[in-house]
Amino acid sequence: MTDNREEPIEERRSLHFIEQIIEEDIRNNKNDGRVHTRFPPEPNGYLHIGHAKSICLNFGLAKNYNGKCNLRFDDTNPSKEEQEYVDSIKQDVRWLGFDWGDREFYASDYFETLYEYGVKLIRKGKAYVCDLSAGEISNNRGTPVVPATPSPYRNRSVEENLDLFTRMKQGEFPDGSRTLRARIDLASPNMHMRDPVLYRIMHAHHHRTGDNWCIYPMYDFAHGQSDSIEGITHSVCTLEFEVHRPLYDWFIRELEIFTPQQIEFARLNVSYTVMSKRKLLELVTGGFVNGWDDPRMPTISGLRRRGYTPEAIRLFADKVGVAKRDNVIEFALLEHCLREELNKRSLRVMAVMNPVKVVIDNYPEGHTEELTAINNPEDPAAGTRLVPFSGEIFIEKEDFMENPPRKYFRLSPGTEVRLRYAYFVTCVGVEKDENGEVKVIHCTYDPASQGGNSPDGRKVQGTIHWVSAQHAIKAEARLYDHLFLREDPDNVEEGQDYKDFLNPDSLKITECMAEPGVLNAKPFGKYQFERVGYFSVDPDTKPQKPVFNRTVSLKDSWTKHTR
Ligand code: ATP
Ligand code: MG
Repeated sequence: MTDNREEPIEERRSLHFIEQIIEEDIRNNKNDGRVHTRFPPEPNGYLHIGHAKSICLNFGLAKNYNGKCNLRFDDTNPSKEEQEYVDSIKQDVRWLGFDWGDREFYASDYFETLYEYGVKLIRKGKAYVCDLSAGEISNNRGTPVVPATPSPYRNRSVEENLDLFTRMKQGEFPDGSRTLRARIDLASPNMHMRDPVLYRIMHAHHHRTGDNWCIYPMYDFAHGQSDSIEGITHSVCTLEFEVHRPLYDWFIRELEIFTPQQIEFARLNVSYTVMSKRKLLELVTGGFVNGWDDPRMPTISGLRRRGYTPEAIRLFADKVGVAKRDNVIEFALLEHCLREELNKRSLRVMAVMNPVKVVIDNYPEGHTEELTAINNPEDPAAGTRLVPFSGEIFIEKEDFMENPPRKYFRLSPGTEVRLRYAYFVTCVGVEKDENGEVKVIHCTYDPASQGGNSPDGRKVQGTIHWVSAQHAIKAEARLYDHLFLREDPDNVEEGQDYKDFLNPDSLKITECMAEPGVLNAKPFGKYQFERVGYFSVDPDTKPQKPVFNRTVSLKDSWTKHTR
């Protein structure tokens, strides 16, 4: 698969439907040809890979069309929102490689304006204060074919509505006792048009406005107007907002304010994981994972800790494209993008996960030497390093078989293999314990094969990795698997719960033996343990005891789809 992301978009693929809309708008000089998007998270959780898709799309469109992209927090619900989430969202967007300049906005910045919009609708006879409870409103909603029952408060006078709305704002009424509702169409087949609630009473402390407000706008009354206030030209959102669009358009029309164009695309879903913020929060608070940045989580902070790079996530967002229908993307594609990036930048080291000792009988007693190893064959600038070698080394248990099947090219009695960067060795015998398990493998080496090069043109079939026993560093390896056993953990039968499908083996902690160079490993450093997998240094790492997260195995199960 070729990687040609540096080329302009039009040269590498056809335009997706949002780009087509934007180009058409630019041709027609709509909004003076301006392109202004935004990424509008609600600060009620950490961002996940689905949000990353939206971030790449919104910031990417702005970049490609010389426009701007705002970061706007849609913080209309103080009961679920926190500064911690605001901070993590900013960190994640920046880490992904995007910059909102000085355009960091909050829906709460517009509370005064939104309140005035409520007053304006009341004055136009388009909104009223309703004393029904939430339950009563819901019971009166009707069905798609049966119109809603009118609220007994629907025909209050403008004066009474203004008075009550003012007093709602002043805090005269308890939570839930009254709402401000739009006066639209009780028979509309679109339930969102049946006099939706615009404001609710909630005596709650807001992370930005403190106790200034005890009425808060509903998301639907804030989102579209916030876009309008910011002059957003293309308001890109996910499909579930398609049915809200007539309502948003109604607000804009009645309020006579700037009209952003809402365009919906399909949410990103990825197999073997869940993406709902409610579920992710439950996994964290319920202790099913170790926090939002647990490397098994699909959160951006989790992926970062696991060892993902921003480039890998951006490549993934680009490859999944922009769809109009809901679909599920295979996790294998995400990992494929990850490998492409890690292959380019990871330092190669040797580490043995399941060690068995090899004694090289003819190696000079007590001798050690340093052999040159290539840091990254994909990147000559990464240079070389010296790796210590001695007469006792560790290799992987699975790289030796006493009675090998045909086509087993690794070490077995009588066969010769290459120790990567070191020597050709031939197995001459084994020592076993009382259970018959191999404890020590005896080999001889060919001194003329130093560097792992054939001295006389003779070939060996296998090359295996190793670490010198006396120089090996013990490191912790955290091996991850899918968090869920099922591809579609959201799709459960009645009586089941997505948590029933948590994978009990999603984390295994083991100790491995690594070459001494890993003592320099810094948190988030990227390594390829040769023949084993890609690993990233966990922030828990200690100078004398490195901790590695296995980011992904080497074997790509995605390429088989495409080749
Ligand atoms: P909720 O609204 O249930 O709290 P959300 O996932 O929609 O959750 P938001 O903070 O509202 O969270 O999302 C911010 C932006 O990211 C929105 O524009 C939303 O459409 C987009 N987004 C959220 N999830 C996905 C996803 N899985 N794929 C693509 N875009 C997404
Ligand atoms: Mg949302």
